[in-house]
Amino acid sequence: MSATAPKPPLRVVLCAPRGFCAGVVRAVDIVERALQRYGAPVYVRHEIVHNKFVVDSLKAKGVIFIKELSEAPPGPHPVIFSAHGVTKAVPEEAKARNLFTIDATCPLVTKVHREAQVHFKRGRRIILIGHAGHPEVVGTMGQLPPGRVTLASSISDVKRLEPDDGRPIAYITQTTLSVDDTREIVAALKTRFPAIYGPPNEDICYATTNRQEAVKAAARQVEAAIVVGAANSSNSQRLREVAEREGCAAQLVADERGIDWAALTNVGSVAVTAGASAPEALVERVLGALSARYDVTIETLTTTSESMIFPLPRDLREPA
Ligand code: SF4
Repeated sequence: MSATAPKPPLRVVLCAPRGFCAGVVRAVDIVERALQRYGAPVYVRHEIVHNKFVVDSLKAKGVIFIKELSEAPPGPHPVIFSAHGVTKAVPEEAKARNLFTIDATCPLVTKVHREAQVHFKRGRRIILIGHAGHPEVVGTMGQLPPGRVTLASSISDVKRLEPDDGRPIAYITQTTLSVDDTREIVAALKTRFPAIYGPPNEDICYATTNRQEAVKAAARQVEAAIVVGAANSSNSQRLREVAEREGCAAQLVADERGIDWAALTNVGSVAVTAGASAPEALVERVLGALSARYDVTIETLTTTSESMIFPLPRDLREPA
C-alpha cells in the first residue's frame, strides 16, 4: 500500500464483555498487594494467569516465577499459588517446608474443588469434564487421592467410560470450557448414566460463558475475528473456536505483532475480543494496529454487563 493510498474501510465489532475477569483481577491484585506489603521478591508458583504480558510486568516489579516449591526459600517472602488452583499436595509440601503462602486460586475454581470433595465423601464415582494437563484440571484432580477422578474431554471419552458399577456417579467441569461442547458431553453422560449428579449450570464460570456469548453474537455479523489472548489460555482458545464455528476466519493473537494480515485480505468486518487473562492494553494495541492499516469504524456489541468482584484474602485487604 502506498503512503498516499486511501486506507480500506474496516468495521470493527468490539465484544463486551471481554478481557479480565474477576478471578484474574483478584489474582493480579494479590501479587501486587503482596509486593507492597512484604517487599520483593515475591514468589509465584507457575504463571499467575496465562498471559506473558501480565507475567513480564510482574517480573519487572520483583516477582520471581517458579515451577516448584523447592525453588522458594523459607522466610518472610510469600509464595503465591496461581488463579488456576493447586493440588492438595502443594500446600501440604509448603507447610512441611515452612513456606509462607498466599492462595490466589479463583473462588470459582475453589468451588469446583469443594464439589469434588463432597462427591467423594458421599462415595460417588467422579467424572471431570476438562482438558488433560491444564493446570486447573491437574489441581482439581489433585483434590482427591489418585485414581478417584476420571477425566473425560469428549463424547468419545464418555463412550469409553467403565459401565455403571452400582456406585452413585457425579460430574464436575473445568471452568473455562466451551459452553456448547460441554452441553453435548453432559448430555452424553446423562444418556449413559441417567441418575448422574451434577452442578445446576455446569461449572463453567460466568466470565467464560459471557465472553463466548459475546463473541458468538459478534461473529454472526462479521467475516473475521481476532481474539487477544495467550496460546496456553484455555478460555481464549475456546473464544477462537466459538468464532470459527460461526463461520469466521478467527485468529488468536498474543498482541498486535501476531496478527495474520494475509487472513484479513478483502475482509470488511472483524470482531475483536480478549480472553479472561488478556489485559485491555493489548486490545488497544490491536485496535491501534488495525487503525494504522484501515479506515476503522468501531462499534461495541454488549451482550451482558458484569459486576462480579472477588474479595482479596483478609491479610491483603488494606494496602500496606
Ligand atoms: S476465567 Fe472464570 S474461573 Fe478462571 S479466573 Fe476468571 S472467573 Fe475465575
